[in-house]
Amino acid sequence: MKVDLLIRRVCVDDDRPLVDIAIRDGRIAAIEAGIEVDAAQEIDAAGRAVIPGLVEPHMHLEKALLHRRLPPTQGTLEEAIRVTGILKSRQERHDVLERSRTVLDMAVRNGTVAIRAHPDVDLIQGLIGVETLLELREEYRDLLDIQVVAFPQEGIIKSPGTIALMEEAMGIGADVVGGCPYNELNWDDTVRHIDAVFEMAQKHDADIDMHADFSDEATDQRFAAAGYIAQKTIDSRFQGRVSLGHVTSLGALDPEELKPVLQLLREAEISIVTLPATDLYLGGRNDQKNPRRGLTPVRALQGAGVNVAYSSNNIRNAFTPFGNADMLLIGNLLAHAISYGTPEHQAAILGMATGNAARAIGIDGSYGIAVGRQADLVILDTARVADALLDIPARSWVIKRGKITVVTRHTCDIHRHGCKCPAHGESTAENKQGSSAANA
Ligand SMILES: [Zn+2]
Repeated sequence: MKVDLLIRRVCVDDDRPLVDIAIRDGRIAAIEAGIEVDAAQEIDAAGRAVIPGLVEPHMHLEKALLHRRLPPTQGTLEEAIRVTGILKSRQERHDVLERSRTVLDMAVRNGTVAIRAHPDVDLIQGLIGVETLLELREEYRDLLDIQVVAFPQEGIIKSPGTIALMEEAMGIGADVVGGCPYNELNWDDTVRHIDAVFEMAQKHDADIDMHADFSDEATDQRFAAAGYIAQKTIDSRFQGRVSLGHVTSLGALDPEELKPVLQLLREAEISIVTLPATDLYLGGRNDQKNPRRGLTPVRALQGAGVNVAYSSNNIRNAFTPFGNADMLLIGNLLAHAISYGTPEHQAAILGMATGNAARAIGIDGSYGIAVGRQADLVILDTARVADALLDIPARSWVIKRGKITVVTRHTCDIHRHGCKCPAHGESTAENKQGSSAANA
């Protein structure tokens, strides 16, 4: 047997000996110790940990990196909506492409192998977000997989003309029908919005991904639509094909109110995508004391068997001022926010960034570290998988469909006695020369 890539001495499971991973035709061909095979290319992982490639199930590229254009002065939600509205009306193609590429490059470097992007489709910026992403989906095809959602951020019923634009987006190649049902004027229109999204998804045989229930409270029904969406999913036989982002108002329900909603969500096989950077930043803003964290109840959702993933959402804009498109960093943030600190909890967070996120965007059939699966892998510069969220280590090698896409060379900044790193070590004549020159 000849393979394209052989990864030597890698840690897949902290409790088991190191293994080799052989990759052929973009897929994992074998996982075992001491594989004897001809390989076109080899990596010696030297005991480093490997995880499946990270997946961002929810991102806004065309609104990323706007933080210096009209910098907020107060940092309130009202201001964020206002300044982003102004900036959205001025979107220009080359600028959108450039900022999107910067974020995609960050994501690739950080080991992300798939992104579901939610470009706004509305009368303010038209289809520029969808069109640029369709172009980037081709440009980046060897680095990561991009799914494009037709996302009506400004509502559907209250913004006539949007449904036609969404149809156009689906017609030119968007993959997923989006929704923003809370951004309507009343509950009747929220229902009509949701129904329109399902109708379009059925017509195009496309999956659904909506922003839903984004509020600290569930008292206004427009922000308490999860139950209706779940029932609609079941009635439409769309189980396993619907994901919802934010869903923060679920966190405001009493346990006995929450329980039936959780049961419906599980029955509908809906994935919930929590967006901790945004939700923590914007949540609980009007609380004068004991400010709420404003996240969906991850622990209760997982306890009820609902698939939960997380994502970066925005990168550096008025809604989310920080972000590096690094799923491990967001995972560390989420772990703090939901008090997930035990080893099992940390493993659960990593699962939310990998297998759960893959399921949320419908790629779980070919995903994961197993023979026959697509070879999308990240080798971390740490020896234990369990240290991924602790060390937030360098991504030493990133592999997409069996091809190496990123190599991060380890550099040692601290010169100490006995240090053997390439910059300081005594192992080669070249290094010795270098250090004596530096001393001179
Ligand atoms: Zn979003």
